[in-house]
Amino acid sequence: MNHYDYIIVGSGIAGLYTALLAIKRGSVLILTKGSIDDCNTKYAQGGIAAAIGKDDSPELHFKDTMAAGDGLCDAEAARILTDEATECIADLIKFGVPLDTLNGKITLTREAAHSTPRIIHAGGDATGEHIEVTLSRQVRSSRVKVLEYCLATQILVDNDRVKGIKALDCRTGSVEEYSCQFLILATGGVGRLFKYTTNSDVVTGDGIALAFEAGAEISDMEFFQFHPTVLRLPGVAPFLISEAVRGEGGILRNVEGHRFMPDYTPEAELAPRDVVARSIVYEMKKTRSDRVFLDVTHLPPRLITTRFPHIYRFCLDHGLDITKVLIPVAPAAHYLMGGVKVNNWGETSIPGLFAAGETACAGVHGANRLASNSLLESVVFGKRVVQRTETTERASPSPPSVIVSEAKQSHFLPDREPLSSVPLLNLPNLQSLMWDKVGIIRSGDGLTEAANILATWRPSAAKVGGKDGLPSLTPADQSSYELNNLVLCARLMTEAALLREESRGAHFRTDFPRSSPEWQHHIIFKHNTL
Ligand SMILES: Cc1cc2nc3c(=O)[nH]c(=O)nc-3n(C[C@H](O)[C@H](O)[C@H](O)COP(=O)(O)OP(=O)(O)OC[C@H]3O[C@@H](n4cnc5c(N)ncnc54)[C@H](O)[C@@H]3O)c2cc1C
Repeated sequence: MNHYDYIIVGSGIAGLYTALLAIKRGSVLILTKGSIDDCNTKYAQGGIAAAIGKDDSPELHFKDTMAAGDGLCDAEAARILTDEATECIADLIKFGVPLDTLNGKITLTREAAHSTPRIIHAGGDATGEHIEVTLSRQVRSSRVKVLEYCLATQILVDNDRVKGIKALDCRTGSVEEYSCQFLILATGGVGRLFKYTTNSDVVTGDGIALAFEAGAEISDMEFFQFHPTVLRLPGVAPFLISEAVRGEGGILRNVEGHRFMPDYTPEAELAPRDVVARSIVYEMKKTRSDRVFLDVTHLPPRLITTRFPHIYRFCLDHGLDITKVLIPVAPAAHYLMGGVKVNNWGETSIPGLFAAGETACAGVHGANRLASNSLLESVVFGKRVVQRTETTERASPSPPSVIVSEAKQSHFLPDREPLSSVPLLNLPNLQSLMWDKVGIIRSGDGLTEAANILATWRPSAAKVGGKDGLPSLTPADQSSYELNNLVLCARLMTEAALLREESRGAHFRTDFPRSSPEWQHHIIFKHNTL
């Protein structure tokens, strides 16, 4: 069995950045299931938040982060995020990420729910692509070993400590075991769960499923963010129209031309994402349409073409000159706030197992993520993982920032009676179920229906890693393996959403439309007898 000091699963910003820091301390292997740049990171447009502006401060950034999180942020983690941001941005610059500047100064833009311009960007609206290309180039020219098209299928645990990972070479079908001292999951979120999504095909919740099966705690799965403005054109895959477009003055109109956001909130287009997404859904219902419009025709065309060259070009290629015509948009699934529960050093509840990036839940986003805090979280906590591995003793877990009742905190997935008749389990049916019943606007009835269907689908979802811990996978089985992981994540999300009898942040229930102080705690799942 090949041994490495660090094995990192995933090659988005969290995996690559952590690898570049870890290689200074020992041997590093990155396993990634597609090519190195198959990930969500390269699609990030708006940018990365950090309080470097003249009138800004980590304190202000902290306050905005806490406000967006709607009472569920871990204050200590949010403090770390905002205090350590500048240092990590300096690392990115050192690695060569070409941030946009004007007269030698980094340029900043504003996004919704940020009280001041603090979004750093690259290539205008191609921030993620520049980060991904730059970091992957650095990794390729370093001593980090990268195995592409290599699917992690099972975490190996011995005496309650991680000892390695089992993985399938998707090109040859061979299964290998790799041992390590530290295993870092950087597998991204679970955006493929929904019918309309901004996420890459590789984002199927594998890290969450792997960690759950290994016995790690999974937290906050009910909190999933839907992006309000995603291009809605027949035959065109969902394409994000960055929040920064509204930050620069873009206006939302319904199909009748009415600017509707001021009818819902004084913050109008710059309200938090969940508020804007819900308002759009109401407006689409009211006007019996599947879209609204984002209007930037009143803005100087030069601002559009220079600030959003990527969006401008994409729309133009699809017949829309957005400096002249309105952009058809609708909400789509975007970002998972929950995930593998970690402390402030990225440690999970299993010794030797760490998680970073979107797959992790450090508590910085609470019930709703502040725009552009996710790339930041990936680097701030990725760095902390490596710092943590420099010391041998385990960190004491962070104290919870809210008073929690133990009884309500930890849960096993409940057993449900299988239904006698359910739709066939396949990806489109799963995605439609989640979109319709566990999407932007939820209800107890819809969630119960989804939970029952998901529980009935469970038997067809074989255990991750196959029988007796030996993967029974061939390259052709990759999609069924991913489907199994998606079903498991769907169950965790739906059961958590059912338990949470309130509305908070991105979780909105029509039967409990207000937040309740009783629910100011996290829902954590642990493996039972799945
Ligand atoms: C369209 C879009 C725009 C966004 N814009 C912004 C923005 O402007 N600012 C911001 O802060 N955030 C933004 N986000 C969110 C942000 O991009 C992501 O949260 C972040 O990039 C996640 O990085 P990551 O490294 O955790 O995961 P990812 O970049 O998703 O990478 C996950 C990696 O894990 C690999 N992987 C998964 N499962 C396995 C497995 N079983 N075996 C091996 N490898 C595996 C994948 O192949 C991939 O390489 C945006 C997201 C999207 C989709």
